[in-house]
Amino acid sequence: MLEKMPVLFVGHGSPMNAIEDNEFSRAWVQAGKALPKPKAILCVSAHWVTRGTLVTAMEQPRMIYDMYGFPRQLYEVNYPAPGAPDLAEQVRRIIRKTEVQPDHEWGLDHGTWSVLNRLFPEANVPVIQLSLNANLQIPDHYETARQLRDLRREGVLVIGSGNIVHNLSLVEFRDFAYDWAREFDHQVRNWILADDHDPIVHYEKHGQAAQLAINTAEHYVPLLYSLALKEEGEPISFFAEKVWGGSVSMRSVRFG
Ligand code: ZN
Repeated sequence: MLEKMPVLFVGHGSPMNAIEDNEFSRAWVQAGKALPKPKAILCVSAHWVTRGTLVTAMEQPRMIYDMYGFPRQLYEVNYPAPGAPDLAEQVRRIIRKTEVQPDHEWGLDHGTWSVLNRLFPEANVPVIQLSLNANLQIPDHYETARQLRDLRREGVLVIGSGNIVHNLSLVEFRDFAYDWAREFDHQVRNWILADDHDPIVHYEKHGQAAQLAINTAEHYVPLLYSLALKEEGEPISFFAEKVWGGSVSMRSVRFG
């Protein structure tokens, strides 16, 4: 019997966190050291939005440098973790909420590798990605994620990679926070701690701060994939908690 794996949500922010030494990258390194070694990793990244739900099923996922205008050093990051075709097949079977198709084209986007480069720098744990199906409603994502629950007991580490507050139209690359960003981030924190998932799923009911925080939902939805796997009574801890750049919450959560 394998140890039940914790579940993570990582607020990934700037891709530079993959290579820059800063408070976030250091926090991710520490969070990685505190984890049991998984058999495999399933990552749900904000940067893979598709029509229909896809799961990467190749033996060796390629690197995807899906970010623009950063220093050359960032495009030289290599994260050569193998894929896990068997796990991809298992994910296709256990998700019944929506049809899941195998994918042989994608690979590891920066929502995945920028984080894993810190959590598991040795790149020796197999990784698959599950896409965000743009055709699903927000509650459907939560229900889809719940069907992944048993994987935790099979040594699979599920990671949601996005940002609770993410509004790039208002971002400024410096260390500050808008009041509404801090407010919404703090509100979500309290709901997480209270195991009150319903208002997190139905965020659109929460007025202007929520609207500004989630001007597009792709960075928020990965939180639901982590949240849905939390079991009753499990510990909750935050290994990063700051709003950065005005409108990007770096809040990162560990369940279990
Ligand atoms: Zn991102």
